[in-house]
Amino acid sequence: MHFNDYPTRSLMTITNRPELVFTRGEGAWLYDSEGKRYLDFIQGWAVNCLGHSHKTMIHALTTQAQSLINPGPAFYNAPSAQLAGLLTDFSCFQKVFFANSGAEANEGAIKLARKWGRKFKNGAYEIITFNHSFHGRTLATMSASGKPGWDTMYAPQVAGFPKAELNDIASVARCIHDKTVAIMLEPVQGEAGVIGATREFMQQLRALTQKHHLLLIVDEVQTGCGRTGQLFAYQWSDIEPDIMTLGKGIGGGVPLAALLARDEVACFEAGEQGGTYNGNPLMCAVGVAILEHISQADFLAGVRERAAYFSDALLKLSNEYGFAGERGEGLLRALLLGKEIGHEIVEKARELEPAGLLLNAPRPNLIRFMPALNVTKDEIDLMLVMLRKVLDSIV
Ligand code: PLP
Repeated sequence: MHFNDYPTRSLMTITNRPELVFTRGEGAWLYDSEGKRYLDFIQGWAVNCLGHSHKTMIHALTTQAQSLINPGPAFYNAPSAQLAGLLTDFSCFQKVFFANSGAEANEGAIKLARKWGRKFKNGAYEIITFNHSFHGRTLATMSASGKPGWDTMYAPQVAGFPKAELNDIASVARCIHDKTVAIMLEPVQGEAGVIGATREFMQQLRALTQKHHLLLIVDEVQTGCGRTGQLFAYQWSDIEPDIMTLGKGIGGGVPLAALLARDEVACFEAGEQGGTYNGNPLMCAVGVAILEHISQADFLAGVRERAAYFSDALLKLSNEYGFAGERGEGLLRALLLGKEIGHEIVEKARELEPAGLLLNAPRPNLIRFMPALNVTKDEIDLMLVMLRKVLDSIV
């Protein structure tokens, strides 16, 4: 079917979408309604950690759908208990609340920190966040985010999110006063252009929060679940945060997110947090299948090995074209272009024939790569061949 045959005009405009309708996905490839295929290095924005329609996910979805889809959030169900158990076994946290999106998990983290402040810190409620950070699109998470322009878009903002500079501990210390309850950050700022918090900065934050009796919250919606080559990115810096949020990869493509907290921080009381679909067995069964798959030592070692290969190849390409290098953690990487040609590259890559290439430019001067975690070296090589073809037509 042709694009014009679909009633897309009935969809509210929220972003500028290309005139394509995707109808099928398999591994690293997406297919549009006219049969053209696209090598996908976006993967639902770092979501489809096992690629499109992986058999593990299909099996979990179809098996669970046949037994129980929705008993309701006020009852226990087996997959949510099992997934919570796996998450606490693999991390430094003891309690889990499931949500449907990263923003909702972060809202939960903000509420939990405020509740903890009311209970244990004289009503402190301010959470220090960072310039250029991204925590979601609800009002509170937009207010927590440091994305330029978001402070006025839906004014007035939710109060209580002073901003510091990533990797500048003095700027954080300056924001602390008697109303401060927590510091919240992404271990790698993805939307900002793949900018990592250094190991030293993470350790300084842990020391500072301990000194001032504050909570340390890591937003691992993008960096969690194997993306950086560890199950959780905080594990690279040998610290233990108090709260962590997960999203994206935890569901491998289905709406699932989680809020994790240490025992003494998990202070919600009955009736203070919830949601109709939270912890539903259909999504949690997928989460169990994904986590069992990606937590295997050889899977994460494979992510690290292919990440190193990818990083070397991007650096080589950068040198060839006179670009400004590359950066990232694991399979969340950016090619730094040194000039504002990112959007043109994205367009031209998608329009390549006979097969297109799907890339993302969160900033006009860089390209971000978020392939499936099981991407092969051959697929990385093919992506680079396609990218070179685009670059040769531009620079
Ligand atoms: N936090 C981070 C670090 C993200 O990258 C995102 C999404 O890109 C979110 C939160 C919001 O997640 P969601 O879009 O699932 O609400």
